[in-house]
Amino acid sequence: MVRKHVFLIMISLLVLISCRSPQQPLNKHWMLFTLDTLRQDHVGAYGHSSVKTPILDQLARQGVIFTDGIAESSWTIPSHASLLTSQFPRTHGATWRHRYLDDHCLTAAEILRENGFTCGAAVAARIVSRKRGFEQGFHFFADQNIEIYRSGNEVTQQALSWFSQLEQGKFFFWAHYFDPHMPFNPPYPYHMMYEPSAANDFDAYFKIKNPLPGEKRKRIKVPPRINFAVDEKFLARGLSLYHGEITYLDKQIEKIIRMLKQKKLFADSVITFVADHGEYLGEDNNHFEHGTDLGEPVLKIPYLMTIPTLGAGHIITQPVQLTDILPTVLNLLDLSTSRYQLAGRNLKPLLYSGIPPDRKHVFSELFIDEDTSLHSIRDSEMKLVLKSTKNRETILLSDLDKTDLIRDNGLHNPDTVQHYNKILQQWMKQTKQYVPSTSFKETEEMKQDLRVLGYVD
Ligand SMILES: [Zn+2]
Repeated sequence: MVRKHVFLIMISLLVLISCRSPQQPLNKHWMLFTLDTLRQDHVGAYGHSSVKTPILDQLARQGVIFTDGIAESSWTIPSHASLLTSQFPRTHGATWRHRYLDDHCLTAAEILRENGFTCGAAVAARIVSRKRGFEQGFHFFADQNIEIYRSGNEVTQQALSWFSQLEQGKFFFWAHYFDPHMPFNPPYPYHMMYEPSAANDFDAYFKIKNPLPGEKRKRIKVPPRINFAVDEKFLARGLSLYHGEITYLDKQIEKIIRMLKQKKLFADSVITFVADHGEYLGEDNNHFEHGTDLGEPVLKIPYLMTIPTLGAGHIITQPVQLTDILPTVLNLLDLSTSRYQLAGRNLKPLLYSGIPPDRKHVFSELFIDEDTSLHSIRDSEMKLVLKSTKNRETILLSDLDKTDLIRDNGLHNPDTVQHYNKILQQWMKQTKQYVPSTSFKETEEMKQDLRVLGYVD
C-alpha cells in the first residue's frame, strides 16, 4: 500500500515536471536591436503598403506593437544614451554640446553584468562606439575596424560569432544596425528592389553631400538642378533606396532570430526592436535629415517587443519612450529596479494587467550649442515645442493631426500653450541636469565621422 502511494506521488511529480520545462517559456535573456533612422511609418507592421519587412511584421504579430513610441531626441548619440541609461538627455549629458556618454550614469550592461548576465554588443557606427563611451559594462563590444559606419552584414557576423561561443547562463546582447541611415547604398539586389533605376542619380547627389573619407566636402547642399521640393521623382528615388536599406536590415534580423531559435534561446528571450529616431522624408521641406529639430517624423519610432511569458497579439496605444525600455526589461527579467533611479517607466503592469504608467506626458530634448536648445512635451493629442536661444524663446504647437508644428507663442491658443508649457517647465526643473566634464575632446577623426554622416559642415 505504501509502495503504491510512493509510486503515485512519483508519477504526479513526473507529470508536474513534464508540464513545466522545456515547454514553459521564461523571460531569461534580453536581445536588443536598435534600428538606426528607421521611421515608424516605413515598417509593414505599422501600415506601410509597399516596403517589405516580413520578419519585423511577423515578430510584431508574435509580441507587442507599441503604436506611439517617441524618442528622447532626434539623433543617434543622445537617443542611444537615453535607451541605454534610462535617462533623458539633460541627465546623461551626451548631446551636441558633449558628444560622449560619461560614466556618471549606470548603463543597461553595467546593471545586467552586476546581476550575472554575460553582456555583448556589436555596433555599426563609430558614433556609438567606445570612443564615445558606449562600451560601458559590456564584456564584449564589437566596434573594431569600423570606417565611420559599416554594413549590417558585418554586425550580424559579429553577433553570430559571439553567440557561437556563448556558454550557459543569462545573456544581454545589443545589435546596432545603421543601414537606413544616410548615405543610402543598399547592396545588390536591395538597391534596385523598389525602383530599378534608383541608384544612379541619387547616388550622385549623396556623394556630394556625404563624401568618402579623404574627399573634400563641397559647400553645397543640393546641386542647382535638383530641388527636392519640386522634383518628386528624385525624392521617390531616394525613398526607394531607403526602403532597400530597410528590407536589407529586416534580412539581418532574420539571421539573428534564426540563430536564436537554432540555439534554443529564442523561447526564453525578451526581444526589443526600436529606432533611435526617424527621418524627414519631405515634410516641412526637409529631406533625408534628422537631428535638427523635434518634429514628429524624427521622434516617432517603431517600438516592438516579444516577451516569452506574455505571448502574441498585443497592441499598446499609450505614448512610450526609449527610457521605458530598461526598467521594463529589468522587471520582465525579475530584477529589482528600485535602487537605480531610472527615469523611464516600468511598462510591465501595462502589458500584463492594463495598468497605465503614472504619467500623462512624454518629453524629448535637443541641446544644440551652449545657447540653443529645444524641449518638447507631448501626449496623445497635443505637442508643444519650446525653442530657447540666447535672446528669445519660441513656442510651437501641433495637434498631431498635422505634421507641421505651427509657431504660436501663446497668441493663437493661449490656454493650451500655458497648460503644456507649465508642465514642461516643471519637468525641466525637476529632472536632474548634468553638466559634463570638459575632459572629453573630439579627435579630428571623430569630427570627420559627423561630417561624413551629414551632421556638421
Ligand atoms: Zn541614429
